[in-house]
Amino acid sequence: MRKLALHWQILIGMVTGVLFAFLIINFDWGKQFVVDWIKPFGTIFINSLKLIAVPLILASLIKGVSDLKDISKLSKMGGRTIGMYILTTVIAVSIGLAIVNIIKPGNSIAEETRNQLVESYSADASSKIQAAEKQKEAGPLQALEDLVPSNIFAAASDNANMLQVIFFAIIFGVGLILIPIEKSESVKSFFDGFNEVILKLIDLIMLTAPYGVFALLAALVVEAPSADLFIALLWYALSVVLGLILMICLYLLIIWIFTKKSPKFFLNGIMPAQLLAFSTSSSAATLPVTMERVEEHLGVDSEVASFVLPIGATINMDGTSLYQAVAAVFIAQAFGMDLSLTAQLGIIVTATLASIGSAAVPGAGMVMLVIVLAQAGIPEAGLALIFAVDRPLDMCRTTVNVTGDACVSMIIAKSVDKLGKPHVKDWDDYYQKK
Ligand code: ASP
Repeated sequence: MRKLALHWQILIGMVTGVLFAFLIINFDWGKQFVVDWIKPFGTIFINSLKLIAVPLILASLIKGVSDLKDISKLSKMGGRTIGMYILTTVIAVSIGLAIVNIIKPGNSIAEETRNQLVESYSADASSKIQAAEKQKEAGPLQALEDLVPSNIFAAASDNANMLQVIFFAIIFGVGLILIPIEKSESVKSFFDGFNEVILKLIDLIMLTAPYGVFALLAALVVEAPSADLFIALLWYALSVVLGLILMICLYLLIIWIFTKKSPKFFLNGIMPAQLLAFSTSSSAATLPVTMERVEEHLGVDSEVASFVLPIGATINMDGTSLYQAVAAVFIAQAFGMDLSLTAQLGIIVTATLASIGSAAVPGAGMVMLVIVLAQAGIPEAGLALIFAVDRPLDMCRTTVNVTGDACVSMIIAKSVDKLGKPHVKDWDDYYQKK
């Protein structure tokens, strides 16, 4: 029998996880059972993905940069990558603003519901506001300062410091290019082998993905807040989802125009990463799989993928920026505020910056939303309003974040002539040839 494609296996895991949770929740002991006996497997699955994120970035980026052979290639690719990332983010925010101004989801929310939501979630919201306070106090060059770690081991010991690890890997790679080849060769082949090991580990971890997502989604369903509040926020949630769908369509169009690859080709290649992004709500946890899919199934050369994707996972969050724009205006509408055009243009800037600053972990976009709200003069307490539906929207926006990175990697690869044929590695074959 032919083996079912990975994305189908993951999808089946997701659906059965949700169904299982709805079934078991009818028993008194159901919720506790899932929390005690199912959820830990989901956590183990996410942890195992996160576990290899830092070593993967180190190995693949050092290898990728040092393969470039000269520095001008690096700066050319770097400039294009950052440019594309900012462009797609600004487009995403603009789509979000257009939709929320057309649908006006905030106007349909009754005052009673608003008060109820603010009351039930104000405690949760205030912890997010506190987390954002620290960011707000930072000076204008703080982000630049944070880029350079004072200790690489300390930086590599915290998954939230991904940009610092990227910085180190890039300068290490540059150093490798600059030294004589007989000295650099052994270091390069070490990282080459290291990289292959990590890629193999990703394959192994992905064998458990269907079970991992089953556990993650089952836990999510049993721990979700009441459905009534969901319905009150339906129009808001639909506005975000509509924007995100449009963003995916835009990616497909861009890919088709610039690389002549069909939507089917792209979606088939990237879908397991998308499903994982949806299940984990974390671009960082999904990164190893995104890299593997983009290289092996979309034909992006590893030189490009290893540079573009880790940076994208940390700074390119189109889904998050779109969500921040919709959420900010929704809260303003719900509080009866009329946002001027200047305020909305300000949102384009702050939401772009806030999404760049958001960590690639669950819920980070909501923390940074506080900054967007503060800049636009919208009450921060409004965060409590959207709390109930934040997790499902986080799942959707993370999917778009990951898709956006993959799309940009293809465009960059095409622009530097590094987009080839997919080459799914058959490991047995690979070893026999060796
Ligand atoms: N969870 C998102 C990500 O990892 C960030 C966010 O909260 O929007 O990409």
